[in-house]
Amino acid sequence: MLGLVAILLGLCFGSFLNVVIIRIPQNKSVILPPSSCNNCGNKLKPYHNIPIFSYIFLGGKCGFCKTKISIMYPIIEAASAVIAYAVYLKFGYTFYALFIGLSILLLFALCIIDLKTLEIPDSVNFTALIFAIIGGILYFEDFLFVVSSSLSLAGFFTLLRFAMQTLIKKDVLGEGDIIVVATMGALLGWKLTFFAIFLSAVFALVILILLSKKDHKIPFVPFLFLGTLPCLFFPDFFNSYIMGYLLA
Ligand SMILES: [Zn+2]
Repeated sequence: MLGLVAILLGLCFGSFLNVVIIRIPQNKSVILPPSSCNNCGNKLKPYHNIPIFSYIFLGGKCGFCKTKISIMYPIIEAASAVIAYAVYLKFGYTFYALFIGLSILLLFALCIIDLKTLEIPDSVNFTALIFAIIGGILYFEDFLFVVSSSLSLAGFFTLLRFAMQTLIKKDVLGEGDIIVVATMGALLGWKLTFFAIFLSAVFALVILILLSKKDHKIPFVPFLFLGTLPCLFFPDFFNSYIMGYLLA
């Protein structure tokens, strides 16, 4: 029953994320005006706005002008529901689950924005960081550990970025990516975050080789997100792996 609540909350928040993903890069308010069709401009009726189900009963078309609606809307809603349910399974029905879940869902929205625009809007990024810090403090019950993990990682990667800019004249991580790393630090603690970044780099390398892209700017937030998920949901596995490696 509580799992169902998590899924419904995930669906509704996913619907909101669709608005965030479209409007934030255009510097528009996420609250007003209410959603309307991109093509005919008619305001959506409440029953046009039900996550996933509206898409299905409208046959993937606008209720007024019958223009096709992007399949991305229901996909993002469904993915948000899956993430919310996974957070519920891992963290239960708690306050920290709420904050950790919101942070992860905002990171998910950042992935899509980064993929679409190669930009990482600060407003979404810092909101995710704040939720992560609150969730992390409630979860770890250790204010200093969470804040120092987050800040020291941000500091470390800022220095690394500066060093790389000076030495090889290349941007390794953007400023937006570094805030995402700070969010990861608050959610995972510093040790697991290093492991998550290592995973992200491996994923990114594989994709770069597959696409044989060399000098192009690639969105890095999706890889950071993919590295974060396994460490967040299976921390014991990775902790024992890291400890085994360090002590061997
Ligand atoms: Zn329309």
